[in-house]
Amino acid sequence: MKIGVLALQGAFQEHQKALSSLGAETFQIRQHRDLNIELDGLVLPGGESTTMCKLLLELNMMDNLRNKIQNGLPVFGTCAGLILLSKKIQNQSTTGLATMNIECCRNAYGKQLDSFKTSSQFADIGEVPMVFIRAPYITQASANVEILAKVDGKIVAAKQKNQLVTAFHPELTNDVKIHSYFLKNIVNMAK
Ligand code: GLN
Repeated sequence: MKIGVLALQGAFQEHQKALSSLGAETFQIRQHRDLNIELDGLVLPGGESTTMCKLLLELNMMDNLRNKIQNGLPVFGTCAGLILLSKKIQNQSTTGLATMNIECCRNAYGKQLDSFKTSSQFADIGEVPMVFIRAPYITQASANVEILAKVDGKIVAAKQKNQLVTAFHPELTNDVKIHSYFLKNIVNMAK
């Protein structure tokens, strides 16, 4: 199984480590031509969504990537990756890939709660550790979006067909259950 990890910026190596530990082959996606590689899935890591957006546009990768996702490429966006996939951003006028029917709020926990760790129930998996770093949360989701986890009443994980998002960073814990969920329930289901 070949999984691309967008490696323009942010926490991509940690995702590669988690995926490799589950037996997946990973590739760093850094430029337009990397998108020609036949991929079974793609990870959009955490980092800074505005920087990633800027680079995706500059490198002429945005439209190609959006088409691939719209055509069913399984994708897993964490934190900034969730923001890139959101159709609407509550506190920003621009969007990125905008392929998923969710609205999110960037830096939703404010300065006081810049980063924190907790654990909560995740659908079909059970309790998982969750690391939040200047995280967004989902403020609205369409009927075709399945809510997978909430923390303090806020939606922090969801899926819509081939798209999985978490507001937190599973790759920054030793728990690979959500990566395994991605491989089993999103990547394999798409085949
Ligand atoms: N605050 C970042 C943004 O708006 C996301 C933070 C993260 O990915 N850890 O893009």
